Amino acid sequence: MSEDPIEVFLQPIQLDYDYTAGVSASRFLRAIEQGKLLGQRCPVDGRVYFPSRGSCPQHAVPFADDGAVELPDRGTIVTYSIVRVPSENIPLELPYITVQVLLDGADTVLMHVLDGDLDTVRMGLRVEAVWKPKEEWTTSLANILYFRPLDEPDADYDSYKEHI
Ligand SMILES: [Zn+2]
Repeated sequence: MSEDPIEVFLQPIQLDYDYTAGVSASRFLRAIEQGKLLGQRCPVDGRVYFPSRGSCPQHAVPFADDGAVELPDRGTIVTYSIVRVPSENIPLELPYITVQVLLDGADTVLMHVLDGDLDTVRMGLRVEAVWKPKEEWTTSLANILYFRPLDEPDADYDSYKEHI
């Protein structure tokens, strides 16, 4: 019988967390429960961050309550990836398309998924959000099911190149 120590064993665990969203994230989550997308404008340079947050990461200044900006649910794909590897947390059929969407009026991008053929996606593609039925809305960005292409010309590269 070996006296070697046991170095590895498997022990599944589960941890439950209560997470306090805070003032800024609470404002964002309450708004999205009403179908509104809230960003926050920096008082120093006017850039609009989405989702809204409590302070500017570049200038280290708090965002004022009156800096909230309601954004439209449409924008431009600035970059994308085709996912061919399964993930336990994402119940989408492979392959699927993840996109970085620059909402119109925002200066930061939102990561989401695009509903469309793999050969449809491209940088500059104009898209709009497809929401769950209103009666299913909660305080979650998951109220948006996915984005889909708009019947519009592609955005000019110069209009989004700084956000790639
Ligand atoms: Zn700033």
